[in-house]
Amino acid sequence: MARSYNFSAGPAALPLEVLQEAHEEFFDFAGTGMSVMEISHRSGVFIDIARQAEADLRAILNVPDNYKVLFLQGGASLQFSQVPMNLLRGRTRADYLHTGLWSGKAIEAARRYCAVRIAGSSAPTGFDRVPAPEEWRLDPGAAYLHYTENETVHGVQFPAAPEASVPLVCDACSSLLSKPIDVSRHGLIYAAAQKNMGPAGVTVVLVDEALLDGALPITPDVLNYAQAARADSMLNTPATFSWYLTGLTLRWILRTGGLDRIHQANQAKTGLLYRAIDASGGFYANKVLPAFRSINNVPFFLADTALESVFLRQAESAGLMGLKGHSSAGGIRASLYNAVDLRAAAALADFMADFQRVRG
Ligand code: PMP
Repeated sequence: MARSYNFSAGPAALPLEVLQEAHEEFFDFAGTGMSVMEISHRSGVFIDIARQAEADLRAILNVPDNYKVLFLQGGASLQFSQVPMNLLRGRTRADYLHTGLWSGKAIEAARRYCAVRIAGSSAPTGFDRVPAPEEWRLDPGAAYLHYTENETVHGVQFPAAPEASVPLVCDACSSLLSKPIDVSRHGLIYAAAQKNMGPAGVTVVLVDEALLDGALPITPDVLNYAQAARADSMLNTPATFSWYLTGLTLRWILRTGGLDRIHQANQAKTGLLYRAIDASGGFYANKVLPAFRSINNVPFFLADTALESVFLRQAESAGLMGLKGHSSAGGIRASLYNAVDLRAAAALADFMADFQRVRG
């Protein structure tokens, strides 16, 4: 079987073991004579899958007992609205840190529901960093402080979770399960599965139950966290197959030794690429200050932008897929999520060196 090196930003590479497991039980899940896709979400068989996935996620992330774990739909983008709908709790203002494209989208969505304050922004320096905490202007009356732990397009990551006196809300879409995170410091963490956790279709929300039950009256039932929690994320038909595949991926994470091991591997993979970029004498460039460089997404540019399309074409011919930068940013982007292994990063670093030798 020929498997490509897949650097896609999401949907992204899944562990081969997970795909094989799903393949083996595709037609007949656990002796039912039916595919997981064909059984009711209310059946005991599926409820076991859901319970196991929650238990595994709680174990991997050390989720405190007073947090609800929700498996929702609508992607991380829906959370941009669902968060203010549910977490304003009678307040009218929320703080946001603006560190790149995705926090910008969260900010725009939240403006429909409340007065958004930009507590800190790295827009003036082209999203090359997380602004220094001393520069933030935090509002003690804000309903929450929202930050995007890893900016998937700009390749900027928070070195540590912000300190805040109000509940901390984290878009961890592209970084959840790629390194340890202290859930107890957050009021709410959300992430769509299609980067480090599984396929598209499932969005995980971890929420402190003390923040529930204050949703805006306009909140539809299916977007109400408290109702979702009471219904075990099954108010309506969930994305069963995505949930099941997410469960298999969580099992794989547990088997591989958990988040400390995964974190080290991700640092090693991205470290290889950052070293290759920095050693290229300006042929390749990453614009992010070293302290804020992402261990999930490595965007870079060629000094001669006309060469970027040649780079991408030749990379694909060499089996290196999904390297085109986001449409808003251009350039190249290598996403090195959990299922991308060190050999893939090494193959890309070698390709970059060869390409420079010929074209530099
Ligand atoms: N936040 C971040 C940090 C992301 O990377 C993405 C998707 N790339 C989103 C939100 C939106 O996710 P979705 O496509 O699942 O709505």
